[in-house]
Amino acid sequence: MKDCSYCGCENADTAARCIQCGTDEFVDAAVGDGLSTSAQKGRMALVRDYPKPIVVVGLWIFYLPGFVANSCAALACLLSGMDFLPGLLWFLISGALAVFCGYALYRSVKNYKIHRARFLRELANDLRSNTAESLDATT
Ligand SMILES: [Zn+2]
Repeated sequence: MKDCSYCGCENADTAARCIQCGTDEFVDAAVGDGLSTSAQKGRMALVRDYPKPIVVVGLWIFYLPGFVANSCAALACLLSGMDFLPGLLWFLISGALAVFCGYALYRSVKNYKIHRARFLRELANDLRSNTAESLDATT
């Protein structure tokens, strides 16, 4: 098995891409003991990159009204008929903006979930290795 360098998901050794997030970068299995410098460096980056819930909430506050407003605008254009060019143009613009906002919301939540899963996983690894070290010290 090898671990995805982005989300930490375990993949088969033959996998070209992560089954969880699709990235093609994997942690070298030879240094996967959790104590190597590269793993510690990765952990530092992880702490820095871990998106705070407030960032996700902020994105929702920013994008959700845009998504709702543009969806309504697109629907209104659709209902009022698109028999003239400005109506069609407005429909396309508001529809595209609605899709963009919806995609931004989806990505923010997906990234947050992936990073949180990886963060908790690393945290569990840390606790395990710390426990093992303290056990070694007492014996
Ligand atoms: Zn992954």
